[in-house]
Amino acid sequence: MASEHSRRLEDLSGPEIGERITESSVIIQPVGAVEQHGPHLPLSVDHVIAHESAAALVAEHGDAHDLWLLPTLSVSKSNEHAWSPGTLWLSAETLLAVLRDIGRCVAGTKAQRLVFLNGHGGNSSLLNVACREIRLEHGLMTFLVHPFVPPDQGGRSPEAELGMGIHGGHSETSVFMHLRPDLVHLERADRAVPAGLAENRYVRFGGMASFGWLSNDFGPHGHIGDPTGANAEEGKLLFETSVGLLGEQMAEIAAFGFGRSPD
Ligand SMILES: [Zn+2]
Repeated sequence: MASEHSRRLEDLSGPEIGERITESSVIIQPVGAVEQHGPHLPLSVDHVIAHESAAALVAEHGDAHDLWLLPTLSVSKSNEHAWSPGTLWLSAETLLAVLRDIGRCVAGTKAQRLVFLNGHGGNSSLLNVACREIRLEHGLMTFLVHPFVPPDQGGRSPEAELGMGIHGGHSETSVFMHLRPDLVHLERADRAVPAGLAENRYVRFGGMASFGWLSNDFGPHGHIGDPTGANAEEGKLLFETSVGLLGEQMAEIAAFGFGRSPD
């Protein structure tokens, strides 16, 4: 329902877009996923986390930084889970084309800043490519942020997971228990940490050498991490901390320039 204070772009009328969306507006595209997350979580995890994080961010910081929400893109590049029926995924080529089209539409408004808020680590490389493509094609300033930076991309995973909690592990399960406790079946969870990988110095998640992987390369579990000790209290703290950090990032994005020295 449209409200006077809504910051969802689709709640505006066509003429209102011309009035409310200005050069200072920051347009946020949440990107989720519908993909298997092990036996204890539903397919919707990344979609829900991206959607709820973006909604909380805009509710708390939208007025301060003129943030506007696009509808969450629920299906993205989840082909590391292609082996698991029910996972919905777009090819890299399709998703890149979709992102470029969204960039073109945003460039049709007066806004100059487009932020991808990404809930699915498997999208990150492609989203960085899209940021540059859209920058070149449409002149927008483009940004990529994460509610939770994945451990294979510089984020953190609890010590007990040996830094391997990248999918349906302790932190992600805890956050989901905070957001949708009714959809979590912790009694079905087990520890699925690829301990052998943790012994490598370079070729490991977050190591200097990266590698292509599918989620069933590590075993039949589907998740990668140890969700057995997950809890909603920790999830609430993680979620609220993340929204606060995203708010700080939006402050810099809203004021961003490229740091050019005067000509
Ligand atoms: Zn996930």
